[in-house]
Amino acid sequence: NNIEQSKIPQATAKRLPLYYRFLKNLHASGKQRVSSAELSDAVKVDSATIRRDFSYFGALGKKGYGYNVNYLLSFFRKTLDQDEVTKVTLIGVGNLGTAFLHYNFTKNNNTLISLAFDVDENKIGTEIGDVPIYHLDHMEEHLPEDVTVAILTVPAQAAQAITDRLIAKGIKGILNFTPARLNVPEEIRIHHIDLAVELQSLVYFLKHYPNA
Ligand code: ATP
Repeated sequence: NNIEQSKIPQATAKRLPLYYRFLKNLHASGKQRVSSAELSDAVKVDSATIRRDFSYFGALGKKGYGYNVNYLLSFFRKTLDQDEVTKVTLIGVGNLGTAFLHYNFTKNNNTLISLAFDVDENKIGTEIGDVPIYHLDHMEEHLPEDVTVAILTVPAQAAQAITDRLIAKGIKGILNFTPARLNVPEEIRIHHIDLAVELQSLVYFLKHYPNA
């Protein structure tokens, strides 16, 4: 893999999983090649952006031929580390957290929630979807070194203190589902998904920009 990861712009990198999922389906249906127009239609990204994105991947589409599906797929697999399973921990096994434990992430990408933490004694020591649940007080002793990603589904007021402990233990990335804005060192990556805000924003856009 001679394409330098650092040269792919972040905006392009964010679209990688989207492209990957679509190409995997194409491949499964036996397709050998795909045009930027077809891709554009399927992933809802304009074709100029797709062509620019793909040029970073070293994939130069040919006029009247399109892109080679196998080439792209093997590139994405390598770049997204699909040959290796990324282990994730989940903190907070409430309604949302429980849903994530049941959800089979490995269907679409190679991430796996391998253990979870909570403070509710009724949940400690049980398993949900094959994922063991431990007491948060014992997080430091249970969390394996190779787990560097955490999903946060605790009440907002508990989020910052837990985040500090996760970072001290070596967590590098957090998918934050709590409404709390987290303060973290620069090198730690937080992706914030506030479902209530997203829903409210959708409703607002429908109301004020109905035809957009
Ligand atoms: P959700 O918001 O996920 O639907 P919920 O409404 O079921 O959750 P919450 O009160 O939001 O419940 O709590 C989410 C989970 O986080 C619960 O399982 C709760 O036991 C757990 N929890 C609460 N406080 C803490 C804490 N300080 N550390 C870890 N887990 C906690």
